[in-house]
Amino acid sequence: MRALALVAHGGPEVAQLLELPDPVLPIDGAIIRVKACALNHLDLWVRRGWPALRLTFPHIQGSDIAGVVEHVADGVIAVKPGDRVLVSPGTSCGNCAACGSGNDSLCAKYHLRGETMAGGACERVAAAANDLLRLPDSLSFEEAAATSLTFLTAWHMLVARAHLARGEWILVQAAGSGVGSAAIQVARYLGAQIIATAGDDAKLDRAKALGAAHAINYRTADFLSEVRRITAKRGVDVVFESVGGETFEKSVRALAPGGRLVTCGATSGAEAKIDLRVLFWKQLSLLGSTMGGKRELAEVLRLAGAGHFKAVIDRVFPLEKAREALFALESREVFGKIVLVP
Ligand SMILES: [Zn+2]
Repeated sequence: MRALALVAHGGPEVAQLLELPDPVLPIDGAIIRVKACALNHLDLWVRRGWPALRLTFPHIQGSDIAGVVEHVADGVIAVKPGDRVLVSPGTSCGNCAACGSGNDSLCAKYHLRGETMAGGACERVAAAANDLLRLPDSLSFEEAAATSLTFLTAWHMLVARAHLARGEWILVQAAGSGVGSAAIQVARYLGAQIIATAGDDAKLDRAKALGAAHAINYRTADFLSEVRRITAKRGVDVVFESVGGETFEKSVRALAPGGRLVTCGATSGAEAKIDLRVLFWKQLSLLGSTMGGKRELAEVLRLAGAGHFKAVIDRVFPLEKAREALFALESREVFGKIVLVP
């Protein structure tokens, strides 16, 4: 089968379209014919590599997979050939305390497709039956793939971690990113009052169209003083962070007493300074988050199917143009998801 795979860590040249063997049918699962695979910035970071990441090459990219069940192993009854499914981007052991409580992403054996295991930017993938979720008829394969990782991440951050409640104020940083635009929609669904930041006016307009009541261009205005002005000096109850670096300290300062900051990324820098006096005086909570559980993914998929969430798709590329797709992703001249179709 054809696959977008890394032959080593490095620059754009190491991501290649290769002919690789088909996956083997797992004893507890199925082979899925891939119909759509959405890309994430994660795919670029995996390509560049980091010290703790140990991959076997060639390594197939792509975490967000939707397709049709082609074969199932004997005894598998949860799915059958022809079913339209979403493949959970995360896999876990299914037996430990973390998995039992729905916190799959805290499992010691948690793996993310395209990161520490083979991804789905190819023609077929193997998956355990309990990693497959039936697609609502109202969602196309492209929409389902574009929804999965970003909405799951935003949902886990705002619901499970920050407990964002109706009527609360939230500041969504980097609203033009995939998780940022998902966070606005999750916050809108939860009934929060949303302030979004982005680096250009077109992205601010899109953030408002998705549900932000206020949008701040962080290149032309100081977001902290704008947040204070909008909230009559009180600050916000929750900050949705993925930027890190110098933004982080000001994000902490934007919180109201009792506020929660939840973060899933550090795109502009992995180190940040915090005034600990602000942390304890204002009784703030700093929360880390990554991915989410399969039950949460099922809920996200149900809400997307019911029309509450709409993944923003920038462009769809055929698998043969995968390198062009990666180039578009890297250029950052995109609003929403880049999706590959084999
Ligand atoms: Zn587990």
